Amino acid sequence: MSTEAPTTPKLRTDLFLDGKFVPSSSGKRFATVNPATGETIAQVAEAETEDLDRAVAGARQAFESGPWAAMKPRQRGRILTRAAELLLSRAEDFGRVETMDNGKPIFESAKIDMPAAAECLAYFGESADKLYGDTFPARPDAMLLTLREPVGVVGAITPWNFPLLQAMWKIAPALALGNTVVLKPASVTPLTSLLFAELLTEAGLPPGAFQVVPGPGAVIGRAMAEHPGIDKISFTGETETGKSILRAAAGTVKRVSMELGGKSPNLVFADADLDAAAKGAINAIFYGKGELCSAGSRLLVEDSVHDALIERVVDRAKKMTPGDPMNPKTRLGALVSEKQRDTVAGYVEAGKREGARLLAGGNRASVEGKGAFFEATVFDEVTPSMTIAREEIFGPVLATLRFRDEAEAVAIGNSTIYGLAAAVWTRDVKKALRTAKQLKAGTVWINTYNFYDPGLPFGGYKESGFGRERGRYALEEYTQVKSVWIDLT
Ligand code: NDP
Repeated sequence: MSTEAPTTPKLRTDLFLDGKFVPSSSGKRFATVNPATGETIAQVAEAETEDLDRAVAGARQAFESGPWAAMKPRQRGRILTRAAELLLSRAEDFGRVETMDNGKPIFESAKIDMPAAAECLAYFGESADKLYGDTFPARPDAMLLTLREPVGVVGAITPWNFPLLQAMWKIAPALALGNTVVLKPASVTPLTSLLFAELLTEAGLPPGAFQVVPGPGAVIGRAMAEHPGIDKISFTGETETGKSILRAAAGTVKRVSMELGGKSPNLVFADADLDAAAKGAINAIFYGKGELCSAGSRLLVEDSVHDALIERVVDRAKKMTPGDPMNPKTRLGALVSEKQRDTVAGYVEAGKREGARLLAGGNRASVEGKGAFFEATVFDEVTPSMTIAREEIFGPVLATLRFRDEAEAVAIGNSTIYGLAAAVWTRDVKKALRTAKQLKAGTVWINTYNFYDPGLPFGGYKESGFGRERGRYALEEYTQVKSVWIDLT
């Protein structure tokens, strides 16, 4: 589709076990498809539960003995920072593979996701030897202290929307702290995780410290949650899947952390810079094709500026035409699959049926006659009880609602089972901070949207999950505390 001659690295399509790519024990494979063309990219090995057992046994051994277990934290950190440099130098190659597998614009995958994944690796690589316990002078006859120790074998289960970046938020802190990781990538986007296994080996990671087992979530993901050899599950995905993982993990009292869905409110007050807010609203919903857990999918606008803001938003949305994801100028790629496009189309129908006003988009689209594309879609006159205001669509569909005053803005903003993110646009500092405090969300942006830093924690309130990725809170997620009492008498 693109006029450029793309160069893609040699794909890796086998399981990654104990430092080697190997077929699954059954020999079964599944297809991964480019959603922008409908063409099969590769046939990927499908893990069986016995492959998972092998992955867990290898990860256990690497955790308990061998070079990984014996390594000083600073050495572990150096492997990660080396991996960060390698990934950054191959951002374009990895970006191409991510774009083929997921349909997101190459601009996003090569210029944003991969550099962000490398930055995350570097951040945690540099943190590896900066974890401290406590000592406290409680008694004259003893010395009391705490140690922070790795939790053991971490099972990471990841979604398809930011395949490598989401995985990195788990892999980087877990490895930095001396854990080992068994990763199950989403079945529709397994390719960059497998490539990354090769890169980690090149950076010096010993065998067993990182294992990759692509396979169906209902089989392999579930078996990971139940597995007695896995000490912690770090999951990102749908809230309903998260609930089933929690139930499955209960049998072994595993540690669990969950990054789940969202229906994030983006509040625009009358005193905001409307041009900036319109641009922010577009970025909030159409970045990543709206397949973003933190997407600003509900735009809440103060009555007096409603028309002025919506006009600007619709103008911009109409210019967001779907394009070839491999073209560096494209800003709206293909949805991840036909199935996801059907889901999105179903929500658009629900919006129309329930009386919302369609102002832009609303249709399936194609590029050169192919692909799971969908137009940038804006609904107005949405009410909080409508399906498109309540449920996570995970596509390029914006629901716009009105509010009269600050109290109503916060009330509508919080009228959701989710609590992942929110944003506030205003020039009034006190109003911004008041509202930020009242919004029940794990992240609140003020006068911006969708900005991330590896040092700033990310995670949900309410049914958007618990636990935090990134920053020093992530270090706590992948360690456990041991108390030591030393008798001095
Ligand atoms: P899913 O929950 O369907 O899948 C996520 C992962 O879980 C996949 O690897 C999947 O495997 C696996 N899985 C599926 N069923 C089970 C099961 N029963 N037990 C264990 N693992 C299972 O989500 P999607 O991949 O469809 O991602 C989209 C969803 O993820 C959206 O709802 C979005 O909001 C949420 N999300 C949340 C984020 C956050 O940070 N809070 C970030 C990104 C996405 P398989 O692919 O084989 O089905």
